[in-house]
Parts: sequence; structure tokens; C-alpha cells
Amino acid sequence: MAMKYHPDKNPDDAAASEKFKQCSEAYEILSDAEKRAAYDRYGLDALKEGGMGGHGGFGMNPEDIFASFFGGGFGGMRGGGGGGGGPRKTRDMVTALPVTLEELYAGAVKKMKVTRKVVCTACAGSGAKSGKATRCAPCQGQGVRVVLRQFGPGMLTKQQVVCDQCRGEGEVVREQDKCGTCRGERVSESTKVLKVEIDKGARDGQRLTFRGESDEAPGMKAGDLIFVLKQKQHDVFERRGSHLFMEKEIPLASALCGGQFVVPHLDGRPLVVTLAAGDVVVPEAVKEVRNEGMPIAGRTYEHGSLFIKFTLAFPVSLTAAQVALVKQALTEALPAVVADAAHVPVTTVAASESRWENAQEEDERGAGHGHGGDDDEDEDEDGHGHGPGVQCAQQ
Ligand SMILES: [Zn+2]
Ligand SMILES: [Zn+2]
Repeated sequence: MAMKYHPDKNPDDAAASEKFKQCSEAYEILSDAEKRAAYDRYGLDALKEGGMGGHGGFGMNPEDIFASFFGGGFGGMRGGGGGGGGPRKTRDMVTALPVTLEELYAGAVKKMKVTRKVVCTACAGSGAKSGKATRCAPCQGQGVRVVLRQFGPGMLTKQQVVCDQCRGEGEVVREQDKCGTCRGERVSESTKVLKVEIDKGARDGQRLTFRGESDEAPGMKAGDLIFVLKQKQHDVFERRGSHLFMEKEIPLASALCGGQFVVPHLDGRPLVVTLAAGDVVVPEAVKEVRNEGMPIAGRTYEHGSLFIKFTLAFPVSLTAAQVALVKQALTEALPAVVADAAHVPVTTVAASESRWENAQEEDERGAGHGHGGDDDEDEDEDGHGHGPGVQCAQQ
């Protein structure tokens, strides 16, 4: 794909250029174990969010990526990150750091084992025992060579390619002079443990930067190592900003008569929530518990709120004695029995949810008008008002 859409072959073709950019992004992720892992777990956003620091947003110059892959076949100069004249920087390393909501609430210190390339100390980054590399002969120390390339019938083009002898560095180390420690590579792998401090109230997606802890390379400034906090989903709480949200089912009795329940909080504290007697909780009601949300970063004792949305668990059935008691207690709230309206007695039967849905679909199809002639009679009665007199007159 990269070959097909390469800008050299498609000059001034915006669509091809976009395709080529996509190819390079895909290659950039797939060729880097850490980015690949981040992509597999969190998708493209994790990488975009992380940015690639010193190289200006997503990705380095596509030419550079393919130059390293195809040994310079596309004529780009190798490296080329920093821009703007200062010392070049190696690319930033961006790593997702999974954290629990508990850790974001209470703060935490995580020890992270980090492996990166460091400049070889044995040869001071020269790659040579003697401490000196020699000028590369094929490119005369330039790091690039000019070659002729055929890209169509009878069409030749001059291309500058990265020198494959010195990989664009312009210097080589003779075999017998190679550093024993890094085998002439000038860098070696080094592992260390970093303490990552997560502040109370830190947020999902927050970036913690360790300056200069990315790969080292001779003659370049090391880029940054960046951890991106990624909050794992919590079973009870959902966090939005400095507030926490949860749902709670309570028995109908508690909703009417008050009660207590315990919420195990994020710091392990049992939070006892009291519902005042007589302060009726209706279904979907939301109550706010002040100062029991997330800590507000930088303000030691301030917290957001905890919001609790209630659902009610109704009793399945009541005994005759319970009915009598509830009736007695709630008499004022009960609708008055309609006097003498019983000539069309209606009783209810329990309808399942599927029955409800089926019935609604019937109505959409224009069916289900199963009332028959009774409908007309009812309407007539409504028109004339209720009462035995009217009914008698009609008969
Ligand atoms: Zn060379
Ligand atoms: Zn060395």
C-alpha cells in the first residue's frame, strides 16, 4: 500500500497522500510493541491522545518511518524529528497506566518497570573500542546516496536514499573495533523502576510526564516518557468530574418510612446513608450526599458530591391484615371509591412485558381494535352523563 500510494508516484494527489499517511500511521503502530499493545487494549484514541510529542502530533514524517522499514528506498533522510534547529529529540514514549477508581480516590504510588535504550557507557556512544568511528566510504560520510530508479516504462528518476552501509549516520565502526558491550550499536537496553505518583483526585486520561526518560540516542536529547492514566470501570460508582454516581434499590418500606443502608466507600470506609422517616422517596428520585464524591485535586479536604438514584423494591403481595393496615394508614392518600359507577366493572390482570410490547405492535399494524359495538354505547353514555336514569332511558 505504501509503495502504491507513495507521494513520489502520486504527485499532487491529495487522496493518495491521505492513504499514504494512513499506511504510515498503521505501520508506526504495528511496528512498535508498546504502541501495538496500547492500540490493542484501548484503540486509536489512546495513541492520538498520547500524541507523539517531539514529532508534532500523530506520527513522525511518514517518509522517515518507511525509510527505516525499507532501508531508505523512499529517499527520506533518517531521523529528522526535532525540527527548528535545536538538538534533535528521540520520540516520546506513551504508555497507558491502568488504575482503579480507589487509587484515583485515595492517591497511589505505582512502581513501573521501564525498559529503554541508553547510550552505551563503555564506548560513550561511539560504538567503537577506540572511541572513534570512521567515515563511511560508500556515502563519503554524507549518510545518503543518490541512485537512479526506474518507476515506469522508460522513466528514470534520481532519488536520494539513506546509505545502507552506515544507516544514514555517515560513520561506520570497523568489525574488529566494535565495542564489546553494545556490539557497535552505540546504545544498549536498560531497565529501571520508576515511581509513578498518582495524586488524590487524578483523572482518567491524565498524563504524567517523566522528562528525558524515553530512549537515548547518541547526539540526541532523550524524549519524554508519558504515562496516561486509564481508569478501570468500577462496580458501584461512576465518576464524572469530581462527583460520584450510583444506583441503589431500597424496599418500599424504606422509601415510605425511612431507613438506613451502608455503601462501602472507595477508601474502605462504610458510609451509612440515612433516609429520614416520612421523607418519601419516589422511584428514580436522586439524593445528594455532600462531600462524599471524589477529592478535588489540589484542595486537600474538598470533595465533590455522591449522587444516589433510587429504585424501589415493592412487596410481591400483601396479606389481608397488611392491606387493612396500609389502608388505614394511607386513607387520605387513597382515591375515593367512585359511587355507583359499576355498570361496566373492570378488573385488571397482570400483563407481562412481552404482552405489553405485543399489544403495542398490534396497534401499530392497525389491528387490536377489539372493542366492538360496546365502544359506541360507552360514548353515548359519556355524552349524556352518568346515572341510572340515563341508562334506563336508552333501554
Ligand atoms: Zn554511509
Ligand atoms: Zn558500546
